[in-house]
Amino acid sequence: MHVGLPKEIKVKENRVALTPGGVATLVRRGHRVTVERGAGAGSGLPDHEYEQAGATLGSAADAWGAEMVVKVKEPVESEYGHLRGDLLLFTYLHLAADRPLTDALMQAGTTAVAYETVQLADGSLPLLTPMSEVAGRLSVQAGAYHLQKPVGGKGVLLGGVPGVQPGHVTIVGGGVVGTNAAKMAMGLGAKVTILDVSHRRLTYLDDVFFGKLTTMMSSEANLRALLPHTDLLIGAVLIPGAKAPHLVTRDMLGLMEPGSVIVDVAVDQGGCVETIHPTTHDEPTYVVDDVVHYGVANMPGAVPRTSTFALTNATFPYVLALAERGVGALKRDPALAAGLNTHRGQLTYAAVAEAFGLSG
Ligand code: NAD
Repeated sequence: MHVGLPKEIKVKENRVALTPGGVATLVRRGHRVTVERGAGAGSGLPDHEYEQAGATLGSAADAWGAEMVVKVKEPVESEYGHLRGDLLLFTYLHLAADRPLTDALMQAGTTAVAYETVQLADGSLPLLTPMSEVAGRLSVQAGAYHLQKPVGGKGVLLGGVPGVQPGHVTIVGGGVVGTNAAKMAMGLGAKVTILDVSHRRLTYLDDVFFGKLTTMMSSEANLRALLPHTDLLIGAVLIPGAKAPHLVTRDMLGLMEPGSVIVDVAVDQGGCVETIHPTTHDEPTYVVDDVVHYGVANMPGAVPRTSTFALTNATFPYVLALAERGVGALKRDPALAAGLNTHRGQLTYAAVAEAFGLSG
């Protein structure tokens, strides 16, 4: 198959959907790969590495002209003109939040498979997991930095020093983000408490990290008890398909000491802190009631090189399957079939159809 790799043109998007290593594997399997010049630059992957891997370098139109296009982010408006009926597109799409793109894909008749809806039999979303791992680990790094006095924090070093107490990190939600945040916070030497509503999840965390962190059932009472001693609060809750519940309300901010920091990773689903709103890497924080709020909605964008490798590790087996068998790959793999969002002018993903009131 002819595979195209365009450069991401969404503002501040520096990831790329294939590494030179991935290109080399595709070429070895007899596929042809066209890479737009500069596609990997934002992730520190120069053109010559793609060329050495066997790709042909070209323009955006050359890359989009392939039978299958692999991307990171959804096409932006200026890319809609590249959509065609005989195009297989594999990327993050998030169509439920993007009516114009949904219409453009349906009008063009493009077959679009969305990373975020590829789903394994156990319900997990393997192409979202790597970005949650990155965001979880980054949340502690961001929180530790913003606890410093010169940037508005209370001036606490999370690891403490000999003779001085470490900082206290409270993590709400013990899934992928929460577990990765806990690992980093423990690594820094902080005192860590993690809350979840799933007893099974708390049991797992207790089994794995016994003695290194405290697990608590997530409840308002437990949160209220923890907040006065919390230096860094990390929001990591997810209720699939729903907005995050506001577990920390505005009045609860008053329980925290001035200069404490909240990093609400769940901000992309509305956040689990009532006072959080989305921010950008350029201006990541703001202060409400003396508490520093960090609400960057695309945290992995800060570390595009790591994120590119993490993402492509997860996507590449599916890229290869699609290159080998085209749409036929969906028949062989139910996980990939769950990723199909549009095909020949039809909306094939129920949740997106429901979001637009287009379902039966
Ligand atoms: P996950 O499904 O692995 O974990 C979510 C956890 O929340 C589960 O263990 C669940 O039991 C728990 N939970 C549900 N209700 C709860 C409650 N009331 N109190 C405490 N815990 C509760 O999800 P994840 O991959 O860890 O993602 C977490 C959030 O981070 C999602 O909203 C995701 O979209 C977001 N995210 C944001 C970024 C970013 O850049 N900001 C990046 C990646 C992921």
